[in-house]
Amino acid sequence: MAGKDVKDLLRKLVALQKIDAEVYEFKREIKAKPALLDDVKSVFEKKQTRYRELETRLFDLERSRKAKELDLKSKEQEIVKANTVLMTLKTNREYQAKLFEIENMKADQSALEDEILRFFDETTKVTEEMSREKTVVDAEESKYLAEKQKVDALLKDLQDKVATFEAERNVACEGIDAVTLAMYERLVENRMGLAMVPILNDACGGCYMKQTSQMLNKLKMCDEVVRCETCARILYLAGEL
Ligand SMILES: [Zn+2]
Repeated sequence: MAGKDVKDLLRKLVALQKIDAEVYEFKREIKAKPALLDDVKSVFEKKQTRYRELETRLFDLERSRKAKELDLKSKEQEIVKANTVLMTLKTNREYQAKLFEIENMKADQSALEDEILRFFDETTKVTEEMSREKTVVDAEESKYLAEKQKVDALLKDLQDKVATFEAERNVACEGIDAVTLAMYERLVENRMGLAMVPILNDACGGCYMKQTSQMLNKLKMCDEVVRCETCARILYLAGEL
């Protein structure tokens, strides 16, 4: 490659690098932004989980209470039936035995009534807690959605900027051969957005490694693309372009 062509190629790459440095920064921001929502989202989700646990608890309580109410109903029917039988009994022994049986049923009935009351109390407590938690969940949800809206707007803005630069970039790529462009793009990707670096005080402007006089001569000759032996970035002499 002739010196003039290499200079031209380097100039194009430096111009492209200016665009890519900005695009890289925008893309880095795009990647980082969603994490801003992590805290507020996690608080909201925890509250939401708590509320759903209460809903399940309420559902279980009502199901258990209804089962006990059915038990109570059949216990009451048993007592009515036993009382009817009681009236027909002839001997005192049979009568006393049935009476004892009825007393036991009444004790069961009373225990069931107590249990049902406890379920009602528990249901009241859970319902009250749910109503308090609902306020908290709603507030956390609004907070999260408001934050999300802000972040989404920022992302949209950044994506628009990237799209604008993308068009500029296509123009800047014109005239750069495919092999060099692919090598340059890999460097942008792997070297935090910086592929083209000027020589600063005889050192690589990317990794600051001092360059040998042989390397500096090669750069001055300008008949090939020269890369730093330490960080692999493409070197150029700013004053020579
Ligand atoms: Zn270097």
